Amino acid sequence: MSEKPLFNRLALIGVGLIGGSIARAAREQGVVRSITATSRSSATRRRIAELGLADQVVETNAAAVEGADLVIVCIPVGACGEVAKDIGPHLAPGAIVSDVGSVKGSVVRDMAPHLPAGVHFVPTHPVAGTEHSGPDAGFAELFVNRWCILTPPANANAAAVERLKAFWIKLGANVETMSPEHHDLVLGITSHLPHLIAYTIVGTADELSEVTRSEVLKFSAGGFRDFTRIAASDPTMWRDVFLANKDAVLEMLGRFNEDLSALTRAMRSGDGQALFEHFTRTRAIRRGIVEIGQDSAAPDFGRAHPGLPAEPLPRPYAADNE
Ligand code: NAP
Repeated sequence: MSEKPLFNRLALIGVGLIGGSIARAAREQGVVRSITATSRSSATRRRIAELGLADQVVETNAAAVEGADLVIVCIPVGACGEVAKDIGPHLAPGAIVSDVGSVKGSVVRDMAPHLPAGVHFVPTHPVAGTEHSGPDAGFAELFVNRWCILTPPANANAAAVERLKAFWIKLGANVETMSPEHHDLVLGITSHLPHLIAYTIVGTADELSEVTRSEVLKFSAGGFRDFTRIAASDPTMWRDVFLANKDAVLEMLGRFNEDLSALTRAMRSGDGQALFEHFTRTRAIRRGIVEIGQDSAAPDFGRAHPGLPAEPLPRPYAADNE
């Protein structure tokens, strides 16, 4: 805390799970001198004030960014363009503008044209989350030992990128830089497609007439339970993700369908060797994830933070939702 804060004034536009976690972590780590926050609805603005997540809660996006040297837009990706248009004329010269959207190509396309020269746009995606939403769902430890991906444009101001990197490192994250297009491909397979599969399978189970809903709930430990957690993720956020990252997800879905057909064929023709080889390969991938510390080998599937004891669970720790 004795160190000088990295930023004077942080403006948060949107304070839900991610914005609320940034506010808590930034305060705890002393990385900003003050926080100004806003949210679209008066109910959320009231809640931000009640929770004491910001020094000031203001009504408009324009008022929020006034005098801020760091602005982070923490709203669904489909709304980022409109907000950029709204804040563009009010941004302080030299301010860093960022976002936390789960898709980067569309956010860059929608936001960049509205940001004036002299402002540094450095999009980010903290790869951490839970299935919960709203300012109450946030917690300061969300980003600890999770990745935060920065997708700065090729001509980005290096000092601004370094400053934002330092911010996320202070919040506990590991930082990696890549292009928006590469980000969207990587997250297409690691996050977006798994969510699509979870949404599908939970819906399929719900529509089965031979198996009752109570049986689905009762016997859900057999793998299904984790799908239900993922499929409980925010519908607005995920609608926007699939619309915004359509091309990459469709590409991954095509490959997935081909692999599913191969496994279906192996099962139908009784090719146990093919099934065994495939499952052996995927098991090694799981072990690799545990080894690099991105999940725990404990049977809670890493819901507890890998760096903390698995039990008890004081908070809904990051479950790689994002
Ligand atoms: P959240 O908890 O649902 O909070 C959403 C915030 O955005 C609220 O302040 C909400 O305002 C505001 N908002 C919603 N629709 C809006 C619109 N059309 N225009 C302006 N503001 C709007 O969401 P979140 O989980 O924090 O997600 C925020 C962003 O983080 C998304 O882009 C998401 O892709 C990304 N992200 C999410 C996760 C995750 O696991 N959840 C992880 C990494 C990144 P009101 O409450 O006032 O309506």
